[in-house]
Amino acid sequence: MQYNFIDNASVPSLSGHTLPVLDPSDGQPFDELQRSDARDIDRAVRSARACYDERWSRLSAAERGRLLMALSRKVADHADELALLEQRDCGKPTRQARADAAALARYFEFYAGACDKLHGETLPYQNGYSVFTWREPHGVTGHVIPWNYPMQIFGRSVGGALAAGNCCVVKPAEDACLSLLRVAQLAAEVGFPPGTINLVTGYGHEVGDALARHPGIDHISFTGSPRVGTLIQQVAAERHCPVTLELGGKSPQIIFADADLDAALPVVINAIVQNAGQTCSAGSRVLIQQSIYDQMLDRLGAAFEALRVGPASMDLDVGPLIRQSQQQRVWDFLSDAQNDGIATVAQGQIVDEAPEAGFYQAPVLLADVPVAHRVAQEEVFGPVLSAMPFRDEDHAVELANATRFGLVAGVWTRDGARQFRMARRVRSGQVFVNNYGAGGGVELPFGGYKSSGYGREKGFEALYGFTVLKTVAVQHG
Ligand code: NAD
Repeated sequence: MQYNFIDNASVPSLSGHTLPVLDPSDGQPFDELQRSDARDIDRAVRSARACYDERWSRLSAAERGRLLMALSRKVADHADELALLEQRDCGKPTRQARADAAALARYFEFYAGACDKLHGETLPYQNGYSVFTWREPHGVTGHVIPWNYPMQIFGRSVGGALAAGNCCVVKPAEDACLSLLRVAQLAAEVGFPPGTINLVTGYGHEVGDALARHPGIDHISFTGSPRVGTLIQQVAAERHCPVTLELGGKSPQIIFADADLDAALPVVINAIVQNAGQTCSAGSRVLIQQSIYDQMLDRLGAAFEALRVGPASMDLDVGPLIRQSQQQRVWDFLSDAQNDGIATVAQGQIVDEAPEAGFYQAPVLLADVPVAHRVAQEEVFGPVLSAMPFRDEDHAVELANATRFGLVAGVWTRDGARQFRMARRVRSGQVFVNNYGAGGGVELPFGGYKSSGYGREKGFEALYGFTVLKTVAVQHG
């Protein structure tokens, strides 16, 4: 049985209700979570507020940094345990689960070092004045975490908020709580005061909504679907609570005829099959210059046919999707594509060892996808890659920018001037030239244009979102 983590203690929900935890590799329940409600959120917010007022805000920035560094080391020491929890809970192949645990340790390490480097400025003003700014924490921050990368998103969101001096109330996704509950325990073990990090589990429409509405929450950080992002924004607007939103993307990989195709190919494939395509920055559209289109489709197709899908513990190319409704969502996209005459070029194989009741989906490569089709416009959040040809640079830019999203883009070309032109013209929060994702890039600000959201997470930039700027003007003659 898993419990909420409030005030450095594992506690049951006040209602006593629970939820089953399913293993996506076999579809079977193996544990239970608390199904919390607004009363549990209230309890967590009170704990966070008391901690902020009495303990956390009295620590120096350097002391906060030492605690975050200790947590980073503790997570690294427990990386295998955390990876195994994540593997069972979320269906992540072993290498991915381990990479996520390593990234979590790295986030805490980065933000540990950032704590005592976050400062304001002095400003020139009239004679007889000294004017300066302070960056103050919001106080108690709320974090609604999705199920696709729980450890990484917890690391970037909670790590940044703590470094900036806030105390946190976290609502993990109902499908992905186990690793985070353990991390909160590890934080208590290394000496985080009771109330610094609180986790309350349950359904989004119950406990997530209660978190967004709670008047004691001073800032909300949300990663997830555009639909829920809108709801959170609306609820937060009622009390003018600032929000950071990361709502996913429909990110293009743009391959010009002069690109190093051997280098591009494995990166383009990884960008859509990593985590079974359940990645906000998945490279889910591949735009290929006309003159190399057929050749690249052949090469991509051969690589897709070789991909193997199976139980997370087998550590194949692709694991299961998170849950049955996600599998159904992917099937719906694929049946729409089929009904509209979109050709499937290739697909991977689900291995015989995969249990019938697991949530598996073979990677699929679709060709000549019309730009307006929903499979080219909306997040599938599964291993489905839509290919389309482009004529020239202008056409590539037009297609790249032709969705409501703008999170990440990849540009593949050897032409130096074109690299810069494309980086300027593509409307997305990150542009990678001759690479994609830069291996996670904890240091690199991340966030969207358009419906991909606003505000930035990761890197030093995130700390500005987790603080309020105060201007102090002293008249001294
Ligand atoms: P979701 O947006 O419903 O869930 C994300 C988080 O929000 C979860 O913790 C959930 O419990 C919570 N939540 C749900 N309803 C809420 C509410 N009314 N108020 C407050 N919190 C609430 O995402 P999902 O249903 O798990 O997935 C659906 C689709 O969302 C996916 O297919 C994918 O396209 C997208 N998604 C994107 C990301 C991303 O990283 N951008 C992550 C997860 C899901």
